[in-house]
Amino acid sequence: MGWLRDWKRRRILERHRIDDALWRRAQKHLPFLRGLSAGEERRLKEFAVVFLAEKQLTPVQGLELTDDDRVEIALQACLPVLELGLDWYDGWVGIVVHPSDFHVQRKETGDDGVVHEWDDQLAGESWPGGPVVLSWEALDDSGSVAEGGANVVIHEFAHKLDMMSGDPDGVPPLPSRAARERWIEVFDAAFDRFCKDVAAGKETFLDPYAAEHEAEFFAVASEAFFESPHALKRDFAGLYELFKGFYMQDPATRLAS
Ligand SMILES: [Zn+2]
Repeated sequence: MGWLRDWKRRRILERHRIDDALWRRAQKHLPFLRGLSAGEERRLKEFAVVFLAEKQLTPVQGLELTDDDRVEIALQACLPVLELGLDWYDGWVGIVVHPSDFHVQRKETGDDGVVHEWDDQLAGESWPGGPVVLSWEALDDSGSVAEGGANVVIHEFAHKLDMMSGDPDGVPPLPSRAARERWIEVFDAAFDRFCKDVAAGKETFLDPYAAEHEAEFFAVASEAFFESPHALKRDFAGLYELFKGFYMQDPATRLAS
């Protein structure tokens, strides 16, 4: 079916494009989109156009999204797969956007048979094979290259990449067993060090929330990789190199100028 999809994508690109004024507004709002080569910029715009045509972006609870809003979500979602390819987002279509952080009821039965129920307040969520859910309020805070700047779009889409190899565990699909072993070695060392710092109450540049689970560490570190690459490289040089290899991008070099 590959040819059919390629044909459909070509048709989409023949009919739609991101105009220059909109691109400039997006770049102003999302400074980490700067520094791309002409070819990368063209590909990112094309990915965003195809992404918006293939995915279903649904604002809920009275939220309205402008064309700029939609394009900015798409550009941020597509940046991590700029070299990997849009096919990494196969297998699901929905993106639900809430006006603000949303509540999710959780229920879990422990080994002792006791049922635990609690209420989670979330800025974003993504399910294997299911939709990505985002909070517009959290989204609107993004677009900063300041240290520790959060990016809920990159965060949730990083979870999607992680889940391409099964349960979210901070290990995305990698080309070989050796690459996987290398990943686990470097990633786990960085995660352990980070967890110790958080437990010791040290000030960390990454959100302490990342200590909750390997999957969260991967998602939060991915936000930093694209938004505050210099800080990530400074604090987690090994992890930065690992991400550079996986994403096939070098944001610290591209954002240097
Ligand atoms: Zn997360």
